[in-house]
Amino acid sequence: MTGVVLTINAGSSSIKFSVFEAAAHPQCRLIGQIEGLGASVHCKAVDGARKPLIDRVWPAGEGPDSHAAALAEIIGWLEEELPGVRVEGVGHRIVHGGRDHTKPVLIDDALVADLARLTPLAPLHQPHNLAGVAAAREHFPDAPQVACFDTAFHRTQAFVAESYALPRSYYEEGVRRYGFHGLSYEYVGRRLSEIAPLEAAGRVIIAHLGNGCSMAAVKGGRSVATTLGFSSLDGVPMGTRCGQIDPGVLFYLIDQKGMSTKEVADLLFRNSGLKGMSGLSHDLRVLETSDDPQAKDAIEHFVYRVRRETGSLAAALGGVDALVFTAGIGENAARVRARILGGLQWLGVTLDPAANDRNQTVISSADSKVKVFVIPTDEEAMIARHTIHLLGLGVPGRLIA
Ligand code: AMP
Repeated sequence: MTGVVLTINAGSSSIKFSVFEAAAHPQCRLIGQIEGLGASVHCKAVDGARKPLIDRVWPAGEGPDSHAAALAEIIGWLEEELPGVRVEGVGHRIVHGGRDHTKPVLIDDALVADLARLTPLAPLHQPHNLAGVAAAREHFPDAPQVACFDTAFHRTQAFVAESYALPRSYYEEGVRRYGFHGLSYEYVGRRLSEIAPLEAAGRVIIAHLGNGCSMAAVKGGRSVATTLGFSSLDGVPMGTRCGQIDPGVLFYLIDQKGMSTKEVADLLFRNSGLKGMSGLSHDLRVLETSDDPQAKDAIEHFVYRVRRETGSLAAALGGVDALVFTAGIGENAARVRARILGGLQWLGVTLDPAANDRNQTVISSADSKVKVFVIPTDEEAMIARHTIHLLGLGVPGRLIA
């Protein structure tokens, strides 16, 4: 029987899952997603070579309506697809690890209670992540489960980078910049050290630009600053989230326009960013093909904000040796990358337009002072590696914890 690890990334109405061999150098066996839980459910998955394995849509109202039901569906299908495999561990993406979790940990009842207490800090993600944990613990009572935190990578930051200019008591109770997308930064940083070890050892800005967007300043492999803070709203604009905003706007919305906090949260989390500005879509591909001036304004604003944050992170690093683009927009949107980089010549960036158009790994010209990379992210692979490492799988002579 082959030993595998399962990774689970549970969102509000979706579960992303993947299966990796439980080996020191794990290969992906398959990766998939079940989405639309409780409404119109759609499950799709591909194998390690990205060949489609399943693409199933349930009639409205007939598909799984909870994380537990969805996981049961996924497991039933996995058993058919990968007969004879043994799940030796389950790795979970957990958005918030608070101030204390600096690395992945084994999940037990005490940890679940601890993580549930962090729900007010990430109300849109943490409960769903924990629902995924509960469902997986029920289905695999004998397999150890590992929590991999999106905040952990940033816990190397200094007080000046982590704090807000509020009375110290707020910092002590946890009102501080946590940062997110840590698993993506960690994966991309490791890939960079394989591709370009010299640059990876220096001052690097990584731009994770997808539906969620953030950027991180990484020095010698350690996070020194990042654009997301206490919540997942700060920094650059995102698909539906506003990015940095003057808190005075919130007072105006609540006090003058009479909006409830829920209405404000809906606006900032779900109806702002590219979607809100364009009035059209959260999806950059839709905006790029539109003639609507508001779509153009939304892209223009996005590009401008990414450039400004690059300047800020460069200041935090005291200079830049490499820039890395990752996630859906960062990996694919050549025109947006060219626009961002076109405004960064002062920083020593010169683009190789042909390499950029082809989404090559290195998109800066040979004489560029700052090297620019496109590196696809793989958060699932990072979760699998952490799980395998923590459980001592794939290492002869070591037992599962
Ligand atoms: P992610 O959350 O990483 O899946 O990224 C989703 C974002 O990437 C969406 O805004 C997509 O429009 C964008 N994206 C994906 N592929 C492309 C592409 N080929 N060109 C432009 N944007 C893309």
